[in-house]
Amino acid sequence: MTEPVPPASTEVDVIVIGGGPAGLSAALNLGRARASVVVVDAGRPRNAATLRSHGFLTRDGIPPLELRKLARAELAAYPNVRVLDRTVVTALLEKDGDDGLRFIAALKGRGAGTPPAVAARSVLVATGLRETLPDIPSLRAFYGMSIFSCAACDAWELQDRPLALIGETPDLATRARLLARWTDRLTVFTHGSDAVDTVEEAELAASGIVVERGAIDDLEGDRGAVSAVRLTDGTRVEIDGGFVRPQWHPALDFLSGIELERDRFGNLVTDRSGRTSLHGVYAAGDAASPGPQQLIVAAGQGARAAVVLVHDLVGVRTAH
Ligand SMILES: Cc1cc2nc3c(=O)[nH]c(=O)nc-3n(C[C@H](O)[C@H](O)[C@H](O)COP(=O)(O)OP(=O)(O)OC[C@H]3O[C@@H](n4cnc5c(N)ncnc54)[C@H](O)[C@@H]3O)c2cc1C
Repeated sequence: MTEPVPPASTEVDVIVIGGGPAGLSAALNLGRARASVVVVDAGRPRNAATLRSHGFLTRDGIPPLELRKLARAELAAYPNVRVLDRTVVTALLEKDGDDGLRFIAALKGRGAGTPPAVAARSVLVATGLRETLPDIPSLRAFYGMSIFSCAACDAWELQDRPLALIGETPDLATRARLLARWTDRLTVFTHGSDAVDTVEEAELAASGIVVERGAIDDLEGDRGAVSAVRLTDGTRVEIDGGFVRPQWHPALDFLSGIELERDRFGNLVTDRSGRTSLHGVYAAGDAASPGPQQLIVAAGQGARAAVVLVHDLVGVRTAH
């Protein structure tokens, strides 16, 4: 059954769903191309747990909120771009009509308006990812402080220390070999799973990497600084930081009313410029097919999608 399409309070060229680096960078470039834009942002960025972001050229080490604040301040110079904070897109629907407004987003929250919906010619999905961490009682308390998920982002600060890699995913041994670039004191914790097979374990051992297969009882430490991993059999391994492999899930429930091609992980499939399988819908950042999950990559993808979106709105064919 098709869902009823609600009336809209605002009509724009583009709805950007998600106000992280992907969405904000797209909005900046769309604004500069004189598109009317509404950015809808729930305000729950993936890296909210961390105090410093690394690897963003000219902003290495910046607090994540500060990066967003700077981006918002730049957007404020463009009267054709509106940001709806603490507002969620609950559903995106296609709509009929000859006004070119092909999509309508139902909204909930602080900036939702009356009626709570925005109509648009195009949509950019930049809603990032949700993470599920291994089930270890105190892990959340250390995540983003001394346990991280992205080596490229945070391993420099932890180099040459005794580190843990905790995970239950089949790529654990591969990630361990990568992490060994930053330390020669690495212990891999499979938390009772069979994430590392015996051949991989032997290969890791040859590089001096220890594999602990026991279930983890909990982490020890103080005020975000982890100091040891404690197994249920009483074994205690002292560490001075670590990494974890979360399970990642796209945050795309609001797309259930629209047919879009997904990959086997549920991420949106796009071409290299961010076009999805449905004309007029684009995706950028962590919400698009897997790749390096980094702020500058997300921002770059947002900028690129904005350029092709404008070309598509005008109806010109380009090399993009
Ligand atoms: C602990 C941690 C540390 C990290 N450190 C670094 C680092 O140092 N350097 C680095 O480059 N990368 C780092 N990353 C990765 C980085 O945070 C992500 O790659 C980046 O945030 C992706 O940007 P994005 O715009 O795609 O998504 P996000 O930044 O996650 O933004 C998505 C936004 O969309 C909103 N949203 C979701 N659903 C809806 C909806 N239905 N309606 C409205 N809004 C919605 C969310 O609330 C959020 O504000 C880190 C990640 C984590 C978890």
